Amino acid sequence: MAEEGFARKTCSFYRYINIDEPQALRDELYKEWFALRILGRVYLAAEGINAQISVPEPHWDQFLETLNSRGVLAKMPLKHAVQEGQSFFKLAIRVKQELVAYNIPFNQYDMNHVGEQLNAVEFNEAIDNPDNIVIDMRNYYESEVGHFKTAITPDVETSRDLLPQVRNLLKGQEKKEVLLYCTGGIRCEKASAYLLHHGFKNVKQLNGGIIQYAHDIREQQLDSKFIGSNFVFDDRLEERITADIIGVCHQCGTACDSHTDCMNQACHILFIQCPDCKAAYNGCCSPECQEFAALPLEEQWLLRKDPEKVVSKTVHTARVKPRLTQ
Ligand SMILES: [Zn+2]
Ligand SMILES: [Zn+2]
Repeated sequence: MAEEGFARKTCSFYRYINIDEPQALRDELYKEWFALRILGRVYLAAEGINAQISVPEPHWDQFLETLNSRGVLAKMPLKHAVQEGQSFFKLAIRVKQELVAYNIPFNQYDMNHVGEQLNAVEFNEAIDNPDNIVIDMRNYYESEVGHFKTAITPDVETSRDLLPQVRNLLKGQEKKEVLLYCTGGIRCEKASAYLLHHGFKNVKQLNGGIIQYAHDIREQQLDSKFIGSNFVFDDRLEERITADIIGVCHQCGTACDSHTDCMNQACHILFIQCPDCKAAYNGCCSPECQEFAALPLEEQWLLRKDPEKVVSKTVHTARVKPRLTQ
């Protein structure tokens, strides 16, 4: 990417809208964005769009035009990354059933009835009220490296388990003010609709998620009530928000918040590893994976044909979480 000769802007956006023919829109956008050398990961569904992309600066206005020329995508609020960096290496646009895989029936939420959006100042104020409940709507591997100080961080590995668990956690507290946040806001929008549908009276959400919050606290010099790093779904993996290191190496327990993929290609699990353990285990998540990864490639391939022999995923010294998309 260093050879490109132009700078890039990393941004993200989403919108819940009715898209009649997601596949047709997908094909059009792919053609136009590919020509503009846009990279990134984009999801389209009948219920809307969710995109994290990197746009060449010289093509920025043309990119905006591709959104504004389409009624459903016009005047899109874009969130910019706090740190630029190598974020994506290709453009992938996929059509999905749901934007967020909560896997809840359509009759359990109404996207016309979502929680009130709070900006960074309002969210900070609301968090200071001890009567309010703050919930991190992300998965465990995201909140373990950064979260709002007083937030409840549900112990779930996939979005599918999240909503029923949150509803259970909050049983009996339906009248309290519930504050939700996630990476960019998309998960809270649907989650707030779900909670409101299930009897919660006062549900609010952080507008634009942690990405927008990080921007606003910098720009307006506000106190950050979010500590640590924001887990992001591109090759950067984390965006540092404050200097606090709240995660720990899954292998030795020292303070560390950098995620990595196990170097054993048959495992490739996402986990937190400190530099010392990276050196000691050759970037692998366990001695078993290290042993496997050290075998000649041909031998690895033969062994991988027999899943029983692929040592990984079961033997871990500490909690290891799989890589998932939001
Ligand atoms: Zn370590
Ligand atoms: Zn491994």
